[in-house]
Amino acid sequence: MRCVVILLGPPGAGKGTQAARLGKDLSLAHISTGDLFRDNLSRGTELGRQAKSYMDSGRLVPDVLVLDMLFDRVARADCSKGYLLDGFPRTLPQAEALERALGKSARILALNLKVADEVLVERLGGRRTCETCGNIHHLRFSPPKVAGACDKCSGRLVQRPDDSAEVVQKRLRVYREQTLPLEAFYAERKLLVNVDGARAPEEVLGELQRACRGPVMEGCR
Ligand code: AMP
Repeated sequence: MRCVVILLGPPGAGKGTQAARLGKDLSLAHISTGDLFRDNLSRGTELGRQAKSYMDSGRLVPDVLVLDMLFDRVARADCSKGYLLDGFPRTLPQAEALERALGKSARILALNLKVADEVLVERLGGRRTCETCGNIHHLRFSPPKVAGACDKCSGRLVQRPDDSAEVVQKRLRVYREQTLPLEAFYAERKLLVNVDGARAPEEVLGELQRACRGPVMEGCR
């Protein structure tokens, strides 16, 4: 049985950081739709061009573009045993499309990282991303050894355009309006586990790992 683990939560909740670690731990491919769009942007594809204005202004890219890209990606061999989704689904139509596509062929577990708005704003405002390898630092919580340079590859650290203060507020609004209803969607199906995402990353990871060993994922291992 394939397992599809979904990391839900607002921007800045730590989905990317936790997904990278949890994916390794569970031997599941880590699929971030945000990273897929950024990759398309940097390669100058038509999809990247179409997504850019939505991303830069903190809005969601239209479902039809997201769904084609996502289903193409998860059809690849590294997803045959399952995968870990980071930043998808973000709307009810996306969640319904995923449910339809998987049918009874996979188990779904939605891990929901809960973090208060003030903490999110502080995390996103100080976030700096390596433009070469995508590694994430934070000016206060995980500053680089050399200012402006990635600890992993020495690449240049930059602020994502959508991490600016104004766009962060917009992304939080969009999250509340369009993504928050997914909590009820997965809770009704008894597939939701809530995790306090405001704690230290190692503690959060421990709780996510325990949730993945729970009854919903039986038969996946
Ligand atoms: P992220 O890196 O997950 O914060 O995504 C960055 C931006 O990419 C979002 O603010 C959206 O504009 C776009 N995006 C990523 N995933 C999705 C999705 N599932 N649905 C719509 N837009 C998305």
